[in-house]
Amino acid sequence: MEHEADVIVVGARAAGAATAMLLARAGASVVLVDREKPGADTLSTHALMRGGVLQLHRWGLLDQVVAAGTPAIRTTVFHYASSDVEVAIKPTGGVDALYAPRRTVLDPILVAAAATAGVQVQYGSRVVALLREQGRIAGVATHVGGGAERELRARVVVGADGRHSTIARLVEAPTTTEASHTSAFTYGYFAGLDAVGYEWAYRPEGTAGFIPTNDGLTCVFAGHLPSRVGRGGPSVLQELLDCASSAMGARLRAAALASPVRTFTGEPGWLRRPYGPGWALVGDAGSWKDPISAHGLTDALRDAELVADAIGAELANPGCGTEPYRHYERTRDRLTLPILESADEVAAMEWDEARIIELLRRLNAAMTEEVELVVGLDDPGRSSPSPARHVLASAG
Ligand SMILES: Cc1cc2nc3c(=O)[nH]c(=O)nc-3n(C[C@H](O)[C@H](O)[C@H](O)COP(=O)(O)OP(=O)(O)OC[C@H]3O[C@@H](n4cnc5c(N)ncnc54)[C@H](O)[C@@H]3O)c2cc1C
Repeated sequence: MEHEADVIVVGARAAGAATAMLLARAGASVVLVDREKPGADTLSTHALMRGGVLQLHRWGLLDQVVAAGTPAIRTTVFHYASSDVEVAIKPTGGVDALYAPRRTVLDPILVAAAATAGVQVQYGSRVVALLREQGRIAGVATHVGGGAERELRARVVVGADGRHSTIARLVEAPTTTEASHTSAFTYGYFAGLDAVGYEWAYRPEGTAGFIPTNDGLTCVFAGHLPSRVGRGGPSVLQELLDCASSAMGARLRAAALASPVRTFTGEPGWLRRPYGPGWALVGDAGSWKDPISAHGLTDALRDAELVADAIGAELANPGCGTEPYRHYERTRDRLTLPILESADEVAAMEWDEARIIELLRRLNAAMTEEVELVVGLDDPGRSSPSPARHVLASAG
């Protein structure tokens, strides 16, 4: 069978662009397709946690995020009903601050890095079906520009196409974990609001946050049960902010809204099996957590490397079996499950102050484990050296 590429990645945002870049850097030929136009925004706030920032640093892309005017975040403030707790960001792994680049900044940086590594990028290309051959996925059928249908063949197809993944649906990827609760969120961008750093507020009457970002703006979000948030909008945002922290609510009232207010109406978390013959899933396509975790992007950047390693192992040794992919799933689940479970309980909005502090401690412990894994990816002595680097070795 003739292949146009070793790998087709569907979805050119955090998970897909990073996966494509890593595979191409390791010597694979990669096509990256997305149905949208380059540089489009998407429904998402964008606070990166330390693991995500570390990935950008390790891949040599953090300087571009900084050069785009993304402010450094050196402290996180937790606003509870009875106290405010300020935590300084400690330098780790060469990174001394967190960042929250707009998706119109982060995603294009990742796509440009993929293209620089040799990835062929095709926007305006919607995957509508999969090609199958001898029990494996063997490529995709796309609609280009909404019209002509085109077939593309590859050894592996990666679904990085978000939480309503077409690839996951077409391969019937099994759901392995399901959460029970969901938050809804309404958010917008404000000028004239000086956040100290990340500021998170938690009360049973409302959760909220300030996220400093590009162009001198602060992303302000508030969440609660979907029935409470409804269709969201500026007045719901202000009401929920007032409930979550009256001091933050007062600061919001003095700021100027600089964007439309967008609303996410909720979807409980889940994990899907992220691999099968000729296919893999990464990012939200395989792992969705309630956005109160503020962790989907960091997971996507972490898992891009794990899945690229697994695919690299298969490309280097087609008879290697499923162990590299099982390793990917095990590692993803070990790191993601505590985050998914804690976020699920936060989303239920049935906690008191002692319990929310405990849940946030658990989230922090899971993130610490994740940072250890990411830092360890550069350890030349680690027991399972990156198979993707073997592809590079054999390619060059
Ligand atoms: C309200 C809200 C707030 C959030 N806040 C945060 C936060 O603060 N921090 C954080 O880390 N995470 C946050 N998240 C989660 C974060 O948005 C996701 O985890 C992240 O977008 C996942 O990236 P991805 O690349 O997997 O998928 P996506 O960003 O969804 O990208 C998928 C891409 O696939 C393309 N695509 C889909 N179907 C097809 C097809 N058939 N053919 C071709 N292309 C296709 C789409 O056009 C899209 O560009 C939030 C989410 C929401 C909803």
